[in-house]
This record gives sequence, C-alpha cells and structure tokens, in this order.
Amino acid sequence: MITFDGVTKRYADGTVAVDNLSLEAASGTITVFVGPSGCGKTTSLRMINRMIDATQGRILLDGQDVKQIEPSTLRRGIGYVIQQAGLFPHRRIVDNIATVPYLLGWDRKKARARAMELLERVGLDAKLARRYPFQLSGGQQQRVGVARALAADPPVLLMDEPFSAVDPIVRMSLQEELLRLQSELHKTIVFVTHDIDEAVKLGDTVAVFRVGGHLAQFSDPATLLSE
Ligand code: ADP
Ligand code: ADP
Repeated sequence: MITFDGVTKRYADGTVAVDNLSLEAASGTITVFVGPSGCGKTTSLRMINRMIDATQGRILLDGQDVKQIEPSTLRRGIGYVIQQAGLFPHRRIVDNIATVPYLLGWDRKKARARAMELLERVGLDAKLARRYPFQLSGGQQQRVGVARALAADPPVLLMDEPFSAVDPIVRMSLQEELLRLQSELHKTIVFVTHDIDEAVKLGDTVAVFRVGGHLAQFSDPATLLSE
C-alpha cells in the first residue's frame, strides 16, 4: 500500500504543486491520478520514488516512510514508465528491457532471458528483440517501456501518461493489455492521466486532482460517474 499523509510540495520558486494530499493506493490495484494539466499529478507520482521530495508530510510504502528506505532498494522496488518510453536509442530492444537487471549485476544470459520473457508478456514478437527503438512504432516502444519497468519484478509500478502519445486505436489496445497484465501480475500501480475516460477504464480507484494540487474526489469509477 502507498500512503500519502498530508503531503505538500512547494517548489523553489514558491509554486505549491501539491497541497496537503492524503490518500491510500491499495496494494495490487490501479489507482489513477486524473485532472487537468498543472494540477500536481506528476509531482505527486515522482514523490513516491523520490525523484522529488515532499516539502511537508510523509509518503509511506507498506507503512515505511520512503525517505527511510535506501535509495537503491526503493528504485529496485518501483518500476517507472513515462510518456515517450525513454528507451536508450543505441541499445537493442532486448538490452533496453534488461537495463535494470544489468545494473543489478545479473548474469547477461539470465538478464536477456528475462527480457525475452517480458517481450512476450507485453505482446511483442521475439523478432523485435534485436531491433533498435527507432525501428519500432510508438505503440511498440511503449510496450517495451512497460517491459523494461517490469524487468526486476518490482511490486510497484508508476506510470506517467504512458499511452498519451499514441493514436487512439493503439491506446485502446495498450489499455486492454495493461488490464490483462495486471490481472496476472497484481502490481500496485499508480497511473497518471489527464483523460477521464482512461481513468474510469483503468482505475480501481480514481483520485481527481484540481488546480492548486488539491484532491477533489477519491472513489471507485462507478461512484465517480454517478456523482
Ligand atoms: P501535472 O502533472 O498535473 O500536469 P505537475 O505536477 O507537472 O502537474 O505540476 C504542478 C504544478 O507545479 C504546475 O503549476 C507546474 O507548473 C509546477 N511545477 C512543476 N515542476 C516545477 C518546478 N520544477 N519548479 C516550479 N514549478 C514546477
Ligand atoms: P555483446 O555481448 O557484445 O552484447 P552478443 O554476441 O551477446 O554481444 O550479442 C550481440 C547482440 O545481439 C547484442 O547486442 C544483443 O542486443 C543481441 N542479443 C543477444 N542475445 C540476444 C537474445 N537472446 N535475443 C535477442 N537479441 C540478443
């Protein structure tokens, strides 16, 4: 479980991006942060893996303050997926997916075998393993981004608008793939989007942010739609 306990983030220039946020993202579920641009979704997400630190309040991972977790342990336990996949352009797909296992010092053979297994998991043909990122479509690159985030089998996955840059048809299939994957893997996922339809489709729980970094609503999608 991920707990935000009265979390505020004030940037150096005085901007309050997140204002006294308290919520719980239950283990094994998808919690979606949704709201207009600039309302503090990305800031909130990045405070979980400490790319950014909160100014006030605490974020707990299964009851432990993230500031008390050793940074390498924290990063190893949290996969991170961003909008433009962020793949290394000069590395083959198989090596992109195996990035974290390599860093963790896995045997190269084992790391590559893991990458090949994940390639299949995210619905890509094994033949793509030897290609470079520019030889893949945007949708395929996003799948690789998801595979890379899953490589060390982290319990938590943070996803920041992962499907926003692809066309609507591809986005739909990526969303369905994510739900299928989640039904097998039961990760604790926090998913950021500005698209309410996507939030309702993917979220077990939806946190609606409004400008100023306030939480406007926090509920399951059905309740959200009926209000
Ligand atoms: P969202 O993800 O909802 O679009 P962000 O978390 O990116 O929102 O941004 C929230 C607010 O914080 C915005 O007003 C944004 O301009 C501001 N902000 C983001 N990063 C910084 C920064 N490094 N310095 C100052 N203000 C920032
Ligand atoms: P190196 O050790 O220099 O990476 P290898 O001979 O092991 O060289 O591999 C050559 C290239 O083939 C590597 O860059 C890697 O991307 C790719 N490769 C290696 N193993 C596999 C695999 N199991 N599936 C797909 N591609 C692979």
